[in-house]
Amino acid sequence: MAHQLPDLPYDYAALEPVIDAQTMKLHHDMHHGAYVKNLNAALEKYPNLQSKSAEDLIRDLNAVPEDIRGAVRNNGGGQVNHSMFWKIMKPKGGGDPSGPIADVITKTFGNFKDFQTKFNEAGVKQFGSGWVWLAGKPGGEVQIVSTPNQDNPISQGLFPIFGNDVWEHAYYLKYNNRRPEYLAAWWNVVNWDEINQRLKAFQSQREPALAR
Ligand code: MN
Repeated sequence: MAHQLPDLPYDYAALEPVIDAQTMKLHHDMHHGAYVKNLNAALEKYPNLQSKSAEDLIRDLNAVPEDIRGAVRNNGGGQVNHSMFWKIMKPKGGGDPSGPIADVITKTFGNFKDFQTKFNEAGVKQFGSGWVWLAGKPGGEVQIVSTPNQDNPISQGLFPIFGNDVWEHAYYLKYNNRRPEYLAAWWNVVNWDEINQRLKAFQSQREPALAR
């Protein structure tokens, strides 16, 4: 199989009480598992695409044959989004951001609290299923964006520094219809070290482009 379901980097119960073990098990094993399975199934007809990373597939969806484009968009997006999601969370995470991400947030949004408020609002307002992101722009600035379904900012030429999953499958067992409560609690499991690594990747990806 071209694409694999990555292991969770911690136990199902590790993010409790913010995210309950049953949600984590269903979300990782069943939902993420299905995206991987369906992505592999879509690529069966196209062996030449099987060596491409999921990121590369969704970066240029127009290059994907039309008959599997929708499946790759949804399931390739599901693979990329969730592979990031497990890593940008950790037990005993959260707290104030530190390092370069703290500077970027302060510079762009004034302070961490105002950034959180805007990020949570964008997550609440995303109608139906989707994601809320801090994304890097080609010019080097960052912005909050939300995307429907499993769309990833990569497909709009943006860099996904981090994002939160606002599909009901991410929170409904514990928070029911209270998405704002989930969004507010989620900051307590954020892994700022991993987010700083992703910010670094965004910034170093830009440098060669500037030199051209
Ligand atoms: Mn999800």
